Amino acid sequence: MKQFTYARATTPTDAASSAAAHRRTRFIAGGTNLLDLMKLEVETPEHLIDINRLGLDAIEETADGGLRIGTLVRNSDLAADPRVRERYPVLSRALLAGASGQLRNKATTGGNLLQRTRCYYFYDTAMPCNKRHPGSGCAAIGGYNRIHAIVGASDSCIATHPSDMAVAMRVLDAVIHTVAADGNVREIPIGEFYRLPGDTPQVENVLADGELITHVTLPPPPPGRQVYRKVRDRASYAFALISVAAIVNFEDGRIADARIAFGGVGPMPWRDDELERAATGVGDDEVSLRTLAETALADARGQGHNDFKPVLARRTLGAVLVEASGRTDA
Ligand code: SF4
Repeated sequence: MKQFTYARATTPTDAASSAAAHRRTRFIAGGTNLLDLMKLEVETPEHLIDINRLGLDAIEETADGGLRIGTLVRNSDLAADPRVRERYPVLSRALLAGASGQLRNKATTGGNLLQRTRCYYFYDTAMPCNKRHPGSGCAAIGGYNRIHAIVGASDSCIATHPSDMAVAMRVLDAVIHTVAADGNVREIPIGEFYRLPGDTPQVENVLADGELITHVTLPPPPPGRQVYRKVRDRASYAFALISVAAIVNFEDGRIADARIAFGGVGPMPWRDDELERAATGVGDDEVSLRTLAETALADARGQGHNDFKPVLARRTLGAVLVEASGRTDA
């Protein structure tokens, strides 16, 4: 591991201005991803700013009936919060599907949003990787790419975003709140937070240098049944090959409104707008729901070893829609 300096921040603005004043700075909270990356010298920050004492660890009601989640709220605490379990079960289920109990006890809300891809080549400094070393190439294109993207990829990078929590937050239309070095704050809808790789895959989101996530807000939950389902190689401690977060509202035997997000398919939690539009009016019988699911991710394209993913995504969605209908435990 490369040497680095370390400081504890006392206020969010201090943290952001200190980050902007140093070269190659990283915030550290749970450290569940960053420390691994530093040990492998994938991340080589010169300065670490510990944000654990900023007091941003509360879950609070908002005036409009939503929730305000501090960036330092641990994944375990968020999953277990009674308000989350009751009103946002898709989020609780997604959190509990992620990592392991020990990791969830340390991992934070902000860190979960910012975790890096699990592309094998990103972690192997002997291999070319445009995300780790821009311009070096992409070993996954033409390499072993079983866990890689089927939508949103580019000729520079085909990595997926690994978060479960972010997929649930995407379907809940979460808003990410930040503070910058100059004290300015901003609100970023999660649908505008992540960037497609294009020819700059090292730039993964819209945060400026030193900009700190302070909290996430969830609007009041929309009507409908919430479901999260994750398909992976092991039952625990494995990233999603495919995951689906859905909130589906049925009225008079038909879908009145559906929100659907996929994980494990692209560089960000993926909403399929065309699919959501097509869902309105579809009957709640199993044949109709599974037929709708077959139309999902129409632009999906496998990279070779992951050619199974479009089919797996549609079948997983079919099971999720049937579960949401309450007709059977699909
Ligand atoms: Fe690197 Fe992205 Fe290629 Fe993986 S897919 S090797 S992260 S450029």
